[in-house]
Amino acid sequence: MTTTENFNADHASVPTVKATNVHKMFGDLHVLKGVDLIVEPGTVNVILGPSGSGKSTLLRLINQLETLTAGSIEVNGELMGYKHVKHNGEDMLQTLNEKEVAKQREHIGMVFQRFNLFPHKTAIENVMEAPVHVAKVPKSVAKEQAMAQLQRVGLADRADYYPMQLSGGQQQRVAIARALAMNPELMLFDEPTSALDPELVGEVLKVMRQLADDGMTMIVVTHEIGFAKEVADQVVFMDGGVVVEQGGPEIIDNPTSPRFSEFLSHVL
Ligand code: ADP
Ligand code: MG
Repeated sequence: MTTTENFNADHASVPTVKATNVHKMFGDLHVLKGVDLIVEPGTVNVILGPSGSGKSTLLRLINQLETLTAGSIEVNGELMGYKHVKHNGEDMLQTLNEKEVAKQREHIGMVFQRFNLFPHKTAIENVMEAPVHVAKVPKSVAKEQAMAQLQRVGLADRADYYPMQLSGGQQQRVAIARALAMNPELMLFDEPTSALDPELVGEVLKVMRQLADDGMTMIVVTHEIGFAKEVADQVVFMDGGVVVEQGGPEIIDNPTSPRFSEFLSHVL
Protein backbone atom coordinates (compact mmCIF):
# COMPACT_ATOMS: atom_id res chain seq x y z
CA MET A 1 0.00 0.00 0.00
CA THR A 2 1.35 3.40 -0.97
CA THR A 3 0.46 6.89 0.09
CA THR A 4 -0.64 7.64 -3.45
CA GLU A 5 -3.22 4.88 -3.32
CA ASN A 6 -4.51 6.27 -0.08
CA PHE A 7 -4.74 9.72 -1.55
CA ASN A 8 -6.58 8.46 -4.61
CA ALA A 9 -9.00 6.47 -2.51
CA ASP A 10 -9.75 9.55 -0.41
CA HIS A 11 -10.05 11.78 -3.43
CA ALA A 12 -12.44 9.39 -5.15
CA SER A 13 -14.80 9.66 -2.21
CA VAL A 14 -15.19 13.45 -2.50
CA PRO A 15 -18.36 14.28 -4.42
CA THR A 16 -18.15 16.98 -7.08
CA VAL A 17 -21.17 18.63 -5.52
CA LYS A 18 -22.47 18.19 -2.02
CA ALA A 19 -25.47 20.39 -1.26
CA THR A 20 -26.73 20.07 2.28
CA ASN A 21 -30.05 21.34 3.57
CA VAL A 22 -30.10 24.20 1.08
CA HIS A 23 -32.66 26.92 1.68
CA LYS A 24 -33.29 29.97 -0.46
CA MET A 25 -35.70 32.79 0.22
CA PHE A 26 -36.48 35.70 -2.07
CA GLY A 27 -37.97 38.10 0.46
CA ASP A 28 -40.85 36.16 1.99
CA LEU A 29 -40.89 33.60 -0.80
CA HIS A 30 -39.37 30.33 0.40
CA VAL A 31 -38.15 28.84 -2.88
CA LEU A 32 -35.84 26.03 -1.73
CA LYS A 33 -36.85 24.25 1.45
CA GLY A 34 -33.99 21.99 2.48
CA VAL A 35 -32.52 20.45 -0.65
CA ASP A 36 -29.81 17.79 -0.40
CA LEU A 37 -27.92 16.76 -3.50
CA ILE A 38 -24.85 14.63 -4.09
CA VAL A 39 -23.22 14.66 -7.50
CA GLU A 40 -20.48 12.08 -7.98
CA PRO A 41 -17.52 12.82 -10.26
CA GLY A 42 -18.05 11.83 -13.88
CA THR A 43 -21.80 11.43 -13.59
CA VAL A 44 -24.75 12.99 -15.41
CA ASN A 45 -27.42 14.27 -13.06
CA VAL A 46 -30.75 15.28 -14.53
CA ILE A 47 -33.10 17.51 -12.56
CA LEU A 48 -36.74 17.29 -13.54
CA GLY A 49 -39.65 19.26 -12.14
CA PRO A 50 -42.47 21.63 -12.97
CA SER A 51 -41.90 25.30 -13.63
CA GLY A 52 -41.32 27.22 -10.42
CA SER A 53 -40.09 24.24 -8.43
CA GLY A 54 -36.68 25.85 -7.82
CA LYS A 55 -34.48 24.03 -10.36
CA SER A 56 -32.82 27.16 -11.78
CA THR A 57 -32.38 28.60 -8.31
CA LEU A 58 -30.51 25.46 -7.23
CA LEU A 59 -28.16 25.66 -10.23
CA ARG A 60 -27.64 29.38 -9.66
CA LEU A 61 -26.76 28.71 -6.02
CA ILE A 62 -24.21 26.07 -7.01
CA ASN A 63 -22.65 28.60 -9.37
CA GLN A 64 -22.97 31.43 -6.81
CA LEU A 65 -25.17 33.59 -8.99
CA GLU A 66 -27.36 33.69 -5.88
CA THR A 67 -26.43 33.54 -2.21
CA LEU A 68 -27.66 30.84 0.15
CA THR A 69 -30.22 31.64 2.84
CA ALA A 70 -29.21 28.54 4.82
CA GLY A 71 -27.39 25.27 4.31
CA SER A 72 -24.12 24.67 2.49
CA ILE A 73 -22.76 23.76 -0.91
CA GLU A 74 -19.38 22.14 -1.46
CA VAL A 75 -17.78 21.70 -4.86
CA ASN A 76 -14.93 19.20 -4.92
CA GLY A 77 -14.81 19.41 -1.15
CA GLU A 78 -14.50 23.20 -1.12
CA LEU A 79 -17.16 25.22 0.63
CA MET A 80 -18.74 27.69 -1.80
CA GLY A 81 -18.88 31.33 -0.75
CA TYR A 82 -16.96 30.97 2.52
CA LYS A 83 -13.49 30.37 3.84
CA HIS A 84 -12.17 29.15 7.15
CA VAL A 85 -10.27 31.80 9.10
CA LYS A 86 -8.72 31.89 12.55
CA HIS A 87 -10.20 34.56 14.76
CA ASN A 88 -8.71 34.82 18.26
CA GLY A 89 -7.49 31.27 17.81
CA GLU A 90 -10.93 30.01 16.84
CA ASP A 91 -11.88 28.54 13.49
CA MET A 92 -14.58 30.72 11.89
CA LEU A 93 -16.30 31.00 8.54
CA GLN A 94 -15.88 34.23 6.63
CA THR A 95 -17.81 35.28 3.51
CA LEU A 96 -15.64 35.39 0.43
CA ASN A 97 -15.12 38.68 -1.38
CA GLU A 98 -16.12 39.17 -5.02
CA LYS A 99 -12.70 38.21 -6.36
CA GLU A 100 -12.57 35.01 -4.30
CA VAL A 101 -16.08 34.07 -5.44
CA ALA A 102 -15.06 34.64 -9.06
CA LYS A 103 -12.10 32.31 -8.50
CA GLN A 104 -14.38 29.55 -7.19
CA ARG A 105 -16.70 29.99 -10.15
CA GLU A 106 -13.92 29.71 -12.74
CA HIS A 107 -14.14 25.97 -13.08
CA ILE A 108 -17.90 25.68 -13.19
CA GLY A 109 -19.31 26.02 -16.70
CA MET A 110 -22.90 27.07 -17.19
CA VAL A 111 -25.18 26.99 -20.21
CA PHE A 112 -28.51 28.77 -20.09
CA GLN A 113 -31.78 28.41 -21.92
CA ARG A 114 -31.17 31.57 -23.91
CA PHE A 115 -27.93 31.63 -25.82
CA ASN A 116 -26.10 34.40 -24.05
CA LEU A 117 -23.31 34.91 -26.54
CA PHE A 118 -21.77 38.33 -27.09
CA PRO A 119 -23.51 39.42 -30.31
CA HIS A 120 -20.65 41.62 -31.50
CA LYS A 121 -18.04 38.84 -31.18
CA THR A 122 -17.52 35.90 -33.52
CA ALA A 123 -17.97 32.31 -32.36
CA ILE A 124 -14.27 31.86 -31.68
CA GLU A 125 -13.99 35.27 -29.96
CA ASN A 126 -16.84 34.24 -27.67
CA VAL A 127 -15.02 31.03 -26.76
CA MET A 128 -11.71 32.88 -26.20
CA GLU A 129 -13.24 35.59 -24.01
CA ALA A 130 -12.80 34.01 -20.55
CA PRO A 131 -9.43 32.32 -21.19
CA VAL A 132 -7.98 35.64 -22.44
CA HIS A 133 -9.62 38.09 -20.05
CA VAL A 134 -10.07 35.98 -16.92
CA ALA A 135 -7.34 33.34 -17.09
CA LYS A 136 -4.90 35.65 -18.95
CA VAL A 137 -3.99 32.96 -21.45
CA PRO A 138 -1.97 34.45 -24.35
CA LYS A 139 -4.24 35.15 -27.31
CA SER A 140 -2.51 32.78 -29.73
CA VAL A 141 -2.76 29.90 -27.25
CA ALA A 142 -6.38 30.75 -26.39
CA LYS A 143 -7.26 30.79 -30.07
CA GLU A 144 -5.85 27.34 -30.62
CA GLN A 145 -7.68 25.98 -27.59
CA ALA A 146 -10.91 27.70 -28.61
CA MET A 147 -10.67 26.09 -32.01
CA ALA A 148 -10.32 22.69 -30.35
CA GLN A 149 -13.48 23.38 -28.31
CA LEU A 150 -15.36 24.45 -31.44
CA GLN A 151 -14.19 21.24 -33.09
CA ARG A 152 -15.56 19.31 -30.13
CA VAL A 153 -19.05 20.77 -30.70
CA GLY A 154 -18.75 20.33 -34.47
CA LEU A 155 -18.44 24.01 -35.35
CA ALA A 156 -14.82 24.53 -36.37
CA ASP A 157 -16.05 25.69 -39.77
CA ARG A 158 -18.18 28.42 -38.15
CA ALA A 159 -15.39 29.96 -36.05
CA ASP A 160 -15.60 33.36 -37.73
CA TYR A 161 -19.39 33.63 -37.85
CA TYR A 162 -21.28 36.06 -35.64
CA PRO A 163 -24.05 34.67 -33.42
CA MET A 164 -26.78 36.16 -35.62
CA GLN A 165 -25.34 34.24 -38.57
CA LEU A 166 -25.79 30.95 -36.70
CA SER A 167 -28.89 28.86 -36.01
CA GLY A 168 -30.17 28.58 -32.43
CA GLY A 169 -28.71 25.09 -32.17
CA GLN A 170 -25.33 26.28 -33.41
CA GLN A 171 -25.40 29.24 -31.01
CA GLN A 172 -26.11 26.90 -28.14
CA ARG A 173 -23.22 24.66 -29.21
CA VAL A 174 -20.93 27.73 -29.22
CA ALA A 175 -22.23 28.51 -25.72
CA ILE A 176 -21.23 24.97 -24.67
CA ALA A 177 -17.77 25.41 -26.26
CA ARG A 178 -17.43 28.69 -24.40
CA ALA A 179 -18.33 27.06 -21.09
CA LEU A 180 -15.79 24.30 -21.81
CA ALA A 181 -13.01 26.78 -22.57
CA MET A 182 -12.11 27.25 -18.91
CA ASN A 183 -11.71 23.47 -18.44
CA PRO A 184 -14.61 23.16 -16.00
CA GLU A 185 -14.79 20.38 -13.45
CA LEU A 186 -18.55 20.71 -13.52
CA MET A 187 -21.01 21.74 -16.22
CA LEU A 188 -24.43 23.12 -15.36
CA PHE A 189 -27.13 23.16 -18.05
CA ASP A 190 -30.36 25.04 -17.41
CA GLU A 191 -32.93 23.89 -19.96
CA PRO A 192 -30.37 24.20 -22.78
CA THR A 193 -32.81 23.07 -25.47
CA SER A 194 -36.05 24.67 -24.28
CA ALA A 195 -35.74 27.77 -26.46
CA LEU A 196 -34.84 25.84 -29.62
CA ASP A 197 -37.00 24.88 -32.55
CA PRO A 198 -37.70 21.14 -32.26
CA GLU A 199 -35.51 20.22 -35.23
CA LEU A 200 -32.47 21.83 -33.53
CA VAL A 201 -32.80 20.06 -30.17
CA GLY A 202 -31.07 16.87 -31.33
CA GLU A 203 -27.76 18.45 -32.29
CA VAL A 204 -27.39 20.06 -28.85
CA LEU A 205 -28.33 16.88 -27.00
CA LYS A 206 -25.82 15.00 -29.14
CA VAL A 207 -23.02 17.32 -27.99
CA MET A 208 -24.13 16.89 -24.37
CA ARG A 209 -24.19 13.12 -24.77
CA GLN A 210 -20.67 13.22 -26.15
CA LEU A 211 -19.55 15.31 -23.16
CA ALA A 212 -21.08 12.71 -20.87
CA ASP A 213 -19.19 9.97 -22.72
CA ASP A 214 -16.00 11.98 -22.22
CA GLY A 215 -16.62 11.72 -18.47
CA MET A 216 -17.71 15.30 -17.79
CA THR A 217 -19.57 15.81 -14.52
CA MET A 218 -22.89 17.40 -15.41
CA ILE A 219 -26.08 18.69 -13.84
CA VAL A 220 -28.78 19.11 -16.44
CA VAL A 221 -32.16 20.70 -15.91
CA THR A 222 -34.28 19.54 -18.81
CA HIS A 223 -37.68 18.31 -19.89
CA GLU A 224 -36.04 15.93 -22.37
CA ILE A 225 -37.12 12.67 -20.78
CA GLY A 226 -35.46 10.55 -23.46
CA PHE A 227 -32.12 12.18 -22.71
CA ALA A 228 -32.65 11.60 -18.99
CA LYS A 229 -33.43 7.92 -19.49
CA GLU A 230 -30.51 7.28 -21.80
CA VAL A 231 -27.77 9.46 -20.36
CA ALA A 232 -28.50 10.15 -16.67
CA ASP A 233 -26.76 8.32 -13.86
CA GLN A 234 -29.00 10.08 -11.36
CA VAL A 235 -32.47 11.57 -11.80
CA VAL A 236 -33.78 14.09 -9.30
CA PHE A 237 -37.41 15.18 -9.31
CA MET A 238 -38.11 18.49 -7.59
CA ASP A 239 -41.43 20.05 -6.75
CA GLY A 240 -42.29 22.96 -4.49
CA GLY A 241 -38.68 23.57 -3.47
CA VAL A 242 -37.94 20.05 -2.26
CA VAL A 243 -36.53 16.88 -3.80
CA VAL A 244 -39.57 14.63 -4.02
CA GLU A 245 -37.92 11.62 -5.60
CA GLN A 246 -34.44 10.64 -6.73
CA GLY A 247 -32.66 7.58 -8.03
CA GLY A 248 -31.34 5.97 -11.18
CA PRO A 249 -32.98 6.65 -14.55
CA GLU A 250 -35.27 3.67 -13.97
CA ILE A 251 -37.40 5.80 -11.62
CA ILE A 252 -38.78 7.53 -14.72
CA ASP A 253 -40.52 4.31 -15.70
CA ASN A 254 -41.47 3.45 -12.13
CA PRO A 255 -42.23 6.66 -10.23
CA THR A 256 -43.28 6.04 -6.65
CA SER A 257 -44.69 9.45 -5.74
CA PRO A 258 -48.00 10.71 -7.13
CA ARG A 259 -46.42 14.09 -7.90
CA PHE A 260 -43.70 12.56 -10.07
CA SER A 261 -46.24 10.32 -11.86
CA GLU A 262 -48.43 13.33 -12.49
CA PHE A 263 -45.49 15.36 -13.82
CA LEU A 264 -44.35 12.56 -16.12
CA SER A 265 -47.85 12.13 -17.52
CA HIS A 266 -47.63 15.74 -18.76
CA VAL A 267 -44.14 15.68 -20.26
CA LEU A 268 -44.05 12.18 -21.79
P1 ADP B 1 -37.71 26.60 -12.02
O1 ADP B 1 -36.36 26.81 -12.62
O2 ADP B 1 -37.90 25.25 -11.43
O3 ADP B 1 -38.82 26.94 -12.97
P2 ADP B 1 -36.97 28.88 -10.38
O4 ADP B 1 -35.83 28.42 -9.57
O5 ADP B 1 -36.67 29.71 -11.56
O6 ADP B 1 -37.85 27.60 -10.79
O7 ADP B 1 -37.98 29.70 -9.49
C1 ADP B 1 -38.52 29.19 -8.30
C2 ADP B 1 -39.36 30.25 -7.68
O8 ADP B 1 -38.54 31.32 -7.25
C3 ADP B 1 -40.41 30.86 -8.61
O9 ADP B 1 -41.57 31.10 -7.86
C4 ADP B 1 -39.77 32.14 -9.04
O10 ADP B 1 -40.73 33.10 -9.37
C5 ADP B 1 -38.98 32.54 -7.81
N1 ADP B 1 -37.80 33.35 -8.13
C6 ADP B 1 -36.74 32.95 -8.85
N2 ADP B 1 -35.80 33.92 -8.92
C7 ADP B 1 -36.28 34.96 -8.21
C8 ADP B 1 -35.79 36.28 -7.88
N3 ADP B 1 -34.60 36.70 -8.30
N4 ADP B 1 -36.58 37.06 -7.14
C9 ADP B 1 -37.78 36.64 -6.69
N5 ADP B 1 -38.30 35.44 -6.93
C10 ADP B 1 -37.57 34.59 -7.69
MG1 MG C 1 -35.79 27.31 -14.56
